[in-house]
Amino acid sequence: MTSILEQPAAASIAPIALSPEVTRLRERVRAFAEEVVRPRAAQLDRAPAEHFDWDVIRAGHELGLLRLLVPKEHGGLGCGIVGVAVALEEIAAVCAGTALVFGATLLGQAPVLLSGDPDLQRKYLPLFTGPDPVLACNAVTEDAAGCDLLIPEYAPHAADVMQARRDGDRYVLNGRKRFITNGRVARFGSVFANVAGNPGATGLTCFIVPLDTPGVTRGEVADKMGYRACLGTELGFEDVVVPADHVVGGEGAGMHINLQQMNTARAAVAAISTGVARGAFTLARQWCATRVQGGRPLWQHQFSARKLAEMTTKVDAARMLYLRAAHAADSEIPAPAYEPAVAKMFADRVAVEVAQEAMTLLGARGYLRSYPAERYLRESLGARIYEGTPEVLALAITESLYAPEDDF
Ligand SMILES: Cc1cc2nc3c(=O)[nH]c(=O)nc-3n(C[C@H](O)[C@H](O)[C@H](O)COP(=O)(O)OP(=O)(O)OC[C@H]3O[C@@H](n4cnc5c(N)ncnc54)[C@H](O)[C@@H]3O)c2cc1C
Repeated sequence: MTSILEQPAAASIAPIALSPEVTRLRERVRAFAEEVVRPRAAQLDRAPAEHFDWDVIRAGHELGLLRLLVPKEHGGLGCGIVGVAVALEEIAAVCAGTALVFGATLLGQAPVLLSGDPDLQRKYLPLFTGPDPVLACNAVTEDAAGCDLLIPEYAPHAADVMQARRDGDRYVLNGRKRFITNGRVARFGSVFANVAGNPGATGLTCFIVPLDTPGVTRGEVADKMGYRACLGTELGFEDVVVPADHVVGGEGAGMHINLQQMNTARAAVAAISTGVARGAFTLARQWCATRVQGGRPLWQHQFSARKLAEMTTKVDAARMLYLRAAHAADSEIPAPAYEPAVAKMFADRVAVEVAQEAMTLLGARGYLRSYPAERYLRESLGARIYEGTPEVLALAITESLYAPEDDF
């Protein structure tokens, strides 16, 4: 019997080298981020909460950013979570909100992909390969039920969860969702509701719901402190009829689907946090090259040199962890919980720490809205909430460490 301390907690050590295809994708997305997103990033941040820039999304769609996960046989790029993560790091280094518009769409698509259902795939995947950009969303969070919808053992305690009532060959949905990224602009959503009669969220079920279905209402856009380029919205469902063939994975499979989605999405969110950290670091690096105090540039002073060295080390380490997680998510079915949760836990923290150091290195300018340092700090805090707070991630990580199948 080996001790738990002798066992590698991670199932796999991924190669870090990117394929030529993903390397080319990264170059194209970097050019898109610099040429299309960067000139608009400040305006996207300062515009009223409802403002949404379809031109940016259209340009990203032309690159294939809305069909990264769609298999090649369905007209997509089929570049897996590694490709998604690398692309999202590039966009988030310039604007995390824009990265999340694409990320949330991929999350909304995921149940259709995971379902393996040819009818659902024939109906919904072509939307992302046409000439015009189409967005999707993933609707889990509710007013009373937040983290309880992400942690299986707390599902019985989830309060006032949206209800689905079976009625012959259809379901009728009633309830409200909150903070749904792309809810205002998406064509359809993966919507999680509890089948009536099951306590809490123990009957959680995933439905694909076109958002023009009668009874669906799109509420106010949340006035967020960051990620302002993407719109977080309430979605209302009043007697919304969904055909039974729009259920993914069968009745009651919602929590399983949700966990699967999270285990793949967390690698991509870790990449967004890595991008935010990299963007803040790059700003600080440039500033420290030119700002002269005490007769020499800041980077030549030992205290600021130490800060810059710590920052770049953290960004590199975060990238390696998200690549390992993305590789694991692409290689294992179902996607593992451990690597993505560890990657997200680390990258989310690194984003906050690096953004805060960048602000400090810029001095008073770091505190001004005319420099992006303070925006990076506001954006760094967002990923600590969605797709698993640090507390939810800690539970997922320790669940893996103490999984019963481990022999120790
Ligand atoms: C930018 C952004 C985008 C988002 N996009 C989406 C989206 O597209 N779709 C969607 O469905 N939701 C989305 N959300 C909502 C997000 O997923 C939820 O806010 C998140 O799951 C937390 O839920 P809550 O806000 O209700 O917090 P709560 O669940 O009330 O948690 C509050 C605090 O308590 C802690 N806590 C809760 N339970 C436990 C526990 N068991 N043990 C220890 N600590 C605990 C949490 O870690 C947190 O610190 C988004 C949020 C943000 C900020």
